[in-house]
Amino acid sequence: MSEFSNVDPEEIKKFNSLADIWWDPNGSMGMLHVVNPLRTDFIKKNTTLKGKKILDVGCGGGILTEALAREGAEATGIDLAEVPLKIAAQHAEQSGLSIEYLTKNVEDLARERPHSYDVVACCEALEHVPDPKKVIDCCATLLKPGGTLFFSTINRNLKSFLFAIVGAEYVLRMLPRGTHHYSKLIKPEEIDRWVGGNGFSLADISSFMYNPLTKTFKLKARADVNYITCYKPQ
Ligand code: SAH
Repeated sequence: MSEFSNVDPEEIKKFNSLADIWWDPNGSMGMLHVVNPLRTDFIKKNTTLKGKKILDVGCGGGILTEALAREGAEATGIDLAEVPLKIAAQHAEQSGLSIEYLTKNVEDLARERPHSYDVVACCEALEHVPDPKKVIDCCATLLKPGGTLFFSTINRNLKSFLFAIVGAEYVLRMLPRGTHHYSKLIKPEEIDRWVGGNGFSLADISSFMYNPLTKTFKLKARADVNYITCYKPQ
């Protein structure tokens, strides 16, 4: 790791310790499995994946990376937590998928492989880094001209505090307590400003809407609590 400035070691420690349950749909990372088909559908709706080079930044155990590889993409996943990356590599092998997993920070990869990927996705990870703008700048650098960017995270407002932190972590216990910190949540307009500075504009936005009665999520075309964005060159 050559650059420590944009990493919160506590976050990496947390995700390393959660590793064994990464692929258990009923475990504490189960939420990622629930939203995964929705975010994969959103990505497929906005770009072609077959035969494309895609990069998944902050890939964790590879839940999204595998879904994109299954769509025929040539996938690379990077993260700084080594334990989930190992789980990701094992799982891909067991699934007969060829995926490149690297323990690497996005700044280094942007220096080594600028303009290399057709699609760069960073999902549920920006809210865990000290400087999300820097990650977004690197994602833009890693993209080939004409490529597509995807970011998903959690909005920062009262509703998000009530639903994503109090509701999900304390009431419904869908996520381990301490998964998210309110001050690190990100408003869509902040992402817009940071990506806009790299010459991209918003092409699509949707949210994962939870129904506690049916315990299911639905994709709705608006910015709400948990949202996903697609950016294309201006
Ligand atoms: N994107 C995956 C995992 C989300 S969990 C998915 O949605 O399925 C958040 C991930 O971000 C964890 O794997 C954590 O290790 C990673 N992460 C946190 N800080 C990071 C950083 N500075 N650089 C790279 N990955 C980071």
